[in-house]
Amino acid sequence: MRKINIIKNKEKSIQKYRFTIQLIFALLCLWIGVEFFLFAKYLESNGTAAFYQRPPGVDGFLPISSLMSVYYFFLTGSVHQVHPAGFFIFVGIVAVSFVFGKSFCSWFCPVGFLSELIGDFGEKLFGRKIRVPKFLDYPLRSLKYLILAFFAYSIFMEMDALTLKLFLDSPYNIIADLKLYYFFADITRFSIIVLSVIFVLSIIIRNFWCRYLCPYGALLGIFSLLSPNKIKRNASSCIDCGLCAKACPSSIKVDKVKIVVSDECTTCMNCVDVCPVANTLYLQPVKSKTAINKKIIAIGVAGIFVIITAVGMISGKWQNHITKEEYLLLNKNLDRIGHVSNIDELEIDSALINKSITK
Ligand code: SF4
Ligand code: SF4
Repeated sequence: MRKINIIKNKEKSIQKYRFTIQLIFALLCLWIGVEFFLFAKYLESNGTAAFYQRPPGVDGFLPISSLMSVYYFFLTGSVHQVHPAGFFIFVGIVAVSFVFGKSFCSWFCPVGFLSELIGDFGEKLFGRKIRVPKFLDYPLRSLKYLILAFFAYSIFMEMDALTLKLFLDSPYNIIADLKLYYFFADITRFSIIVLSVIFVLSIIIRNFWCRYLCPYGALLGIFSLLSPNKIKRNASSCIDCGLCAKACPSSIKVDKVKIVVSDECTTCMNCVDVCPVANTLYLQPVKSKTAINKKIIAIGVAGIFVIITAVGMISGKWQNHITKEEYLLLNKNLDRIGHVSNIDELEIDSALINKSITK
């Protein structure tokens, strides 16, 4: 039998910091929601109520438009001006994922935060973590990649710089945030049923939405595989207690691998925090022998995101230049403005709306 001198892990847990960042970000999103609600009320009043500025941070809720803006930037070298904050938020999220794995999901994302709270409630309710059998888990996990592939194909294969510009300039893209707002404000019975099913499934299966359906998470999962920093296990000091695997919300068998290479790892650090043996589980650059301090991880995750969004704000590109008169007119035509995919429709749709705006 292997004899090991166990040195107890006395390092403090990072979960308190992670929870604080999640909470701050969720409150920020809530605040953006309140500001956008007031902006929508102003538009509904046809400009008679007090004016509320549209919060640029709402662009962060338009990931497809933001992905298009990033692609547009690659093709043209300029930040598209309709949802510019979305561009910086998207770049910030991808940069964090590239450095610290899929950490956006477990450190920032309000949906991830809510999923986590629902999952905790589910575990308390059932007294254990319910795992989906492998034969079902793998095909279900591929669903989010199929959704991502559909968007990726529609954007990268079907659109050139001109089509992208037409779409990004189109009335539909300009008011995509209002459409999203009314999706929830005037929610249909069908949407309530779908959301309720996802909610119930999230109680039974931890992170149901994130694990199986979120295309954003799928994209970040791909970037996280490229990340140089990975969770590593020191097999010589490991006592095979299995606590790390048990604590992993992504059901990764941390106790069976030397390096966690998984698109499902969100760098939540739960496994590291529960490991009872010092210097046995840590986040470390692949080519290095020095583990990254937990506080550096928290500062790094928040810092990268804050710096990139601050660049957007300082550069003066954060706010779009759509006037309140344009928004008022577009809001009046809200029901007429639908999604258009073909270039002729895009040109006609944009021309029609622009004509009525300039009247
Ligand atoms: S492997 Fe560790 S860091 Fe990654 S998701 Fe699981 S518990 Fe979190
Ligand atoms: S928590 Fe995981 S890495 Fe740490 S000793 Fe137990 S099995 Fe080994």
